[in-house]
Amino acid sequence: MVARSYGERVTIRARRGVVLATGSFTYDEKMLGAHAPLLVGRPGSAVEEHDGLAVKLAQGLGAGVAHMDASEVAVHMDPQYLIRGIVVNGRGQRFVNEDTYPGRIGQAALLKQDNETFLVLDEEGFEEARRMSAAPEFLQLRPSWVCGTATELAAEMGLPAGALEATLDVYNRHAEDGRDPVLHKAGRWVRPLRGPLGAVDLRGQTSGFALGGLTTDTDARVLHVDGEPIPGLFAAGRATAGIAAWGYASGASLGDGSFFGRRAGVGAAAKP
Ligand SMILES: Cc1cc2nc3c(=O)[nH]c(=O)nc-3n(C[C@H](O)[C@H](O)[C@H](O)COP(=O)(O)OP(=O)(O)OC[C@H]3O[C@@H](n4cnc5c(N)ncnc54)[C@H](O)[C@@H]3O)c2cc1C
Repeated sequence: MVARSYGERVTIRARRGVVLATGSFTYDEKMLGAHAPLLVGRPGSAVEEHDGLAVKLAQGLGAGVAHMDASEVAVHMDPQYLIRGIVVNGRGQRFVNEDTYPGRIGQAALLKQDNETFLVLDEEGFEEARRMSAAPEFLQLRPSWVCGTATELAAEMGLPAGALEATLDVYNRHAEDGRDPVLHKAGRWVRPLRGPLGAVDLRGQTSGFALGGLTTDTDARVLHVDGEPIPGLFAAGRATAGIAAWGYASGASLGDGSFFGRRAGVGAAAKP
């Protein structure tokens, strides 16, 4: 390999093995467009060196890939606000419990709801979230619309007439008893939403990264499309399909990189 190290050109011959660990393909628009098109044009939650190089290099040697369409999508929103409101889609319907992992809310919003997503809160919820939030004042949430009633709010947001009111009717009916039998938000966050309502536009608040990549075994060996390890070739982290595809939670990426990175290193250093 010919490389550059601190400005110096260096040449390296790998006698035992090579470990590919250059990250995902989140910043390769062509690969993203082919496999995870909903992420195209969104700010990638990754560094720009994630250009799919490892996947392309290994594919040149016949490596297989898996879960290329899997992606993690963060919703950039303080959970203190999310848990106190209801998240609705462009039809005014709830689709996810608001107290879940925000990465799951982001996935559900971008991948399943055409990214049409809004957070609806009442004044009490806004004020309580503001008190509990650790964010500085300038980062505190501002509603995009504020109205006296759900009907006025829905009209301003462009939601179908009656849809948001119906959602709030059902939510509030059970919230009187501190329950959410529809989506099972924990009772401690469930309270009827009353009085003036505000809505936050979440459509510009989602971004993500690709989770698919090279197929590897538990020793971090890269597998050929025929299923056999490619001799001397190892990979770890987001360059691989790893354990996170379609089941992502914070920590899974660092876990993939550190756990399988170590195994890849041990394998590559072993005598052939
Ligand atoms: C804001 C943010 C928050 C995150 N929070 C979490 C979290 O809480 N938990 C979690 O698990 N994950 C989190 N992640 C994701 C996680 O950081 C990454 O998925 C993980 O670091 C990927 O590890 P990696 O080793 O595959 O790639 P990286 O850690 O990105 O390492 C790849 C390295 O390869 C280098 N490289 C690429 N191409 C070349 C080349 N051609 N030549 C030389 N060097 C090259 C890059 O510069 C980089 O240093 C977060 C990511 C972001 C952006």
